[in-house]
Amino acid sequence: MSLKLVRFSTKERPHDIRIGALSAGRVIDLQLLSAAADAPICPDCGFEVIPLLSGMGCDEALDWAADIAADAENAPADMRYDRSAIKLHAPVGAGGKVLCLATNYDSHLKEGGSKRTIQTPRVFMKPTNNTLCGDGDPILITSQSRLPDYEGELAVIIGRTCREVEPEEALDYVGGYACCNDISERRLRVWERPEDQDWDRFFDWLNGKWFDNSLPLGPCVVPAGFIADPHDLQLQTRVNGETRQETSTGLMIFSIPQVIAFISQIMTLHPGDIIATGTPSGVGAVTDTALQPGDTVEVEISEIGTLSNPVIAQ
Ligand code: MG
Repeated sequence: MSLKLVRFSTKERPHDIRIGALSAGRVIDLQLLSAAADAPICPDCGFEVIPLLSGMGCDEALDWAADIAADAENAPADMRYDRSAIKLHAPVGAGGKVLCLATNYDSHLKEGGSKRTIQTPRVFMKPTNNTLCGDGDPILITSQSRLPDYEGELAVIIGRTCREVEPEEALDYVGGYACCNDISERRLRVWERPEDQDWDRFFDWLNGKWFDNSLPLGPCVVPAGFIADPHDLQLQTRVNGETRQETSTGLMIFSIPQVIAFISQIMTLHPGDIIATGTPSGVGAVTDTALQPGDTVEVEISEIGTLSNPVIAQ
């Protein structure tokens, strides 16, 4: 069984974001169908994504939705859309926080020229209300862009409030998984400097990661119960169809339970928070290859799907 939850809107009602199941190129409106059918909706849920991912009594609703998705071609025609006819939004809305792993694959550490090993997760943040966007939304080349780059990553969506958990129990707090692209500006220089000093030559983990639309997420979120092993997924990033990054998620330096345990010692994780678990080797910066207007970047993860975004000049 599989279940790919999406947030979508139709061309006729672009501001009415609905919850659907993505299956075989179709999206089924789960909210409409659950209202019309005898669906096992728990009272607190109402088929909103974050409560559905909480694992708190929504299992029956998720199984019902998975059955609907498996038989998508027979869903009522007025509750079924071709994927090409609707807009997909980020499967989790803005409002939570995004925590990103700066280096979490040995291959990416080495391609950056580092001979060090790292002993604790290195975490930085992105604001959600300007960076988060969905499948099909544009990656923006701005007037400040010098070397805009992709980073294909597995995103973990927190499902339950989580504070000071041990690694052994950390996966219980995961609501689901999605593809994400941690768009990064490698050569940010917003202000021209009168002279070039050593101190000025550093990668700005904040500003270089905070551009609008710099966190495409999607195309769906797969509830955690439908992924057998999040460390046995194949991740691939392609630019214009050419494979640039390829890894198994089993090669992370710090596993998802270790990362959640580490972060939850510092701050409370809330439902809907997103953890981008780091990128493997193959980023453009290593060969000085910047994303260009007209490019299309795809991040594909097995059992989840393909997140595709065009690159445009802002
Ligand atoms: Mg990253």
